[in-house]
Amino acid sequence: MKHITVLGTGVLGSQIAYQTAFSGYDVVAYDIDDAALDAARERFAKLAVTYSQQVAGAAGGKADDALARIRYSADLTDAVRDADLVIEAVPEALELKRDVYTKLAAVAPEHTVFATNSSTLLPSALAEFTGRPAKFLALHFANQIWLHNTAEVMGTPQTDPAVFEQVVEFAASIDMVPIVIKKEKAGYLLNSLLVPLLNAAGDLLVDGIAEPDAVDKTWRIGTGAPMGPFQIFDVIGLTTAYNVSIAGGEKQQAFAKLLKEQYLDQGKLGVATGEGFYSY
Ligand code: NAD
Repeated sequence: MKHITVLGTGVLGSQIAYQTAFSGYDVVAYDIDDAALDAARERFAKLAVTYSQQVAGAAGGKADDALARIRYSADLTDAVRDADLVIEAVPEALELKRDVYTKLAAVAPEHTVFATNSSTLLPSALAEFTGRPAKFLALHFANQIWLHNTAEVMGTPQTDPAVFEQVVEFAASIDMVPIVIKKEKAGYLLNSLLVPLLNAAGDLLVDGIAEPDAVDKTWRIGTGAPMGPFQIFDVIGLTTAYNVSIAGGEKQQAFAKLLKEQYLDQGKLGVATGEGFYSY
């Protein structure tokens, strides 16, 4: 796989495209119009600065060289003309993604492999719209790809094992740690582990069992983990925690209410605002 196209240049798409270019690939960044591509240019420029500061070997030219390997396009046919791999990072909405795959299937070369970065949709919900289910799978990155460099690879029952292996190799080639997932699973591995932990922590608070500090201390000392669940909530952001919890069961909704009254309404949104469960 030599030529990579990334669809969607938002939070994650820009990181995936930049990391791929940083690793030496020619990348096409596709988005819906020129305004979105202007925003992408700014994102890439900021990423170059971040990499220069935080990634070994990036300062002294390499971070800027990556920028020169990215070509911009708002024309889908043009963007995927030479693509060996298309990584899709468009908004997390089922109908929108289905529409994107239908259009993509009509214009992409036959050999092109498609990978979705979707967080919550199973790839099998999209496979039939790709026109090439054997060459389609999920390749899921984490936010701040240069720090949290897992790439979860998850096929559908229709994915060709040889294509799966090619994508695992591609992920390793852009300095990701490929995580092989053998069967489709909502939440992949990371969220399958993390969400129950965060829910349990929310329950302990709602039930008045312990304060966040006691819960976090227990988790850190007891397991050697660097952060407890409430510290993780602060990193994720309490608005996201609220949005997820309010859509859950009775206990989770009680946690959402607590978050709103004691934190969100006071402008305490987590690390990003300097205060959440902790002050920063
Ligand atoms: P975002 O809203 O930041 O970016 C989406 C981008 O897609 C925008 O640039 C938008 O202009 C573009 N877009 C909209 N419609 C399009 C279309 N029809 N064709 C092409 N581009 C289109 O979203 P994001 O946070 O980068 O998320 C993108 C995908 O990555 C989602 O599936 C999400 O679940 C997944 N993801 C996000 C994160 C995260 O932390 N943000 C982490 C892992 C995976």
